[in-house]
Amino acid sequence: MKSEISIKINDKFKAEYAKGYPLVVKEALENPEVLKSEGSILKLVDKQGRFLAKGYYGLQNKGYGWVLTREENDIVDQGFIERKLATAIGRRKPFFSDSETTAFRVFNGEGDGFGGLIIDYYDGFYLISWYSEGVYTFKDQVIAALQNVADCKGIYQKKRFDTKGQYIEEDDFVTGERGEFPMIVKENGVNFAVYLNDGAMTGIFLDQRDVRNAIKQKYAKGKTVLNTFSYTGAFSVAAALGGAVKTTSVDLAKRSSSKTIEQFSVNGIDFETQDILVMDVFNYFKYAKRKELKFDVVILDPPSFARSKKYTFSTSKDYTNLMKEAIAITEKNGVIVASTNSASFGMKKFKGFIDKAFKELGGKYSIVEEFTLPSDFRVQKEFKEGDYLKVLFVKLG
Ligand code: SAH
Repeated sequence: MKSEISIKINDKFKAEYAKGYPLVVKEALENPEVLKSEGSILKLVDKQGRFLAKGYYGLQNKGYGWVLTREENDIVDQGFIERKLATAIGRRKPFFSDSETTAFRVFNGEGDGFGGLIIDYYDGFYLISWYSEGVYTFKDQVIAALQNVADCKGIYQKKRFDTKGQYIEEDDFVTGERGEFPMIVKENGVNFAVYLNDGAMTGIFLDQRDVRNAIKQKYAKGKTVLNTFSYTGAFSVAAALGGAVKTTSVDLAKRSSSKTIEQFSVNGIDFETQDILVMDVFNYFKYAKRKELKFDVVILDPPSFARSKKYTFSTSKDYTNLMKEAIAITEKNGVIVASTNSASFGMKKFKGFIDKAFKELGGKYSIVEEFTLPSDFRVQKEFKEGDYLKVLFVKLG
């Protein structure tokens, strides 16, 4: 049995928790000194000792833990977790029955009622990501619960709470059968090579599924496509399959080149017909300007924060400049796909960054399509920060 600790919530935050706010934040706590070991069950009470919610203590950069229930009588045991998992799996029925998409999110943290816990499905295998030492103390219960409610070939895990998000463990296998990697999963009929046993990343960011599909179906045909911050080239593959005349992928990481070649190859595309460049995108912009290169479609999907030898990029400070660089090498009537996964600002502010870029350069534009997280990345309406993805299709002219 886990110990249960009463923690007092100040008057300012009391109403928030009563309304369903899920994150236990430092500013809300009257007596944080009672928090000792991560994984403890927290009983949130107001200053008069009245029950507000129950949760657990787990340190993440976001906060001190998560609310799990507002029912005082709930006991957080394996059965409790099992019910949450079963509900989450039930909500993904359309994904489970779609043979064209075999990789998706099954459990999205607080959006499915258990912050800090993420579970993704990869063609029969389940990948659990633990975001704190605290949530990791539920490991045995989560795994037993998952095996009871899902048909798991095998289970893998990623611990995402080692020093500053750095990744340490080598083999992430937990139980069941071991997979063979790369494993080929499908997304709207497109193949992707993924690795569940190779560091922090699997090779594909599942949250961009709808965006990749839009590029493939509506924006790529007959076009030249520049994919910046391309990682494994997932957007480039979508564009090439959608009929792009050529794609150009640019990423600083040395591994991105072999990874991109692999993603093209598993889709039967000759990678030599495409350009794959390992370089700093800011240098690429200079090069493209000098050579007077222009593209019909330019994809911008930077990390929230990045530092290279020469440049530091922070989304909230530098997106307008990034956008200006992109505008300069986009054809008249071309489309820029502007994406960000920064949770520190919302869609309105993001649109402001785009608008500012056009104002400063003096050009016209329209937003022809916009995306946030897909439905399997369930978000809780009381926790807007959870809906971090923002993607705008911006048409020039
Ligand atoms: N668009 C990708 C995901 C991008 S992840 C996808 O859909 O899969 C961010 C990538 O940006 C990482 O691969 C990282 O290597 C790269 N990156 C960071 N700073 C960079 C820079 N200055 N120039 C080029 N690539 C950079």
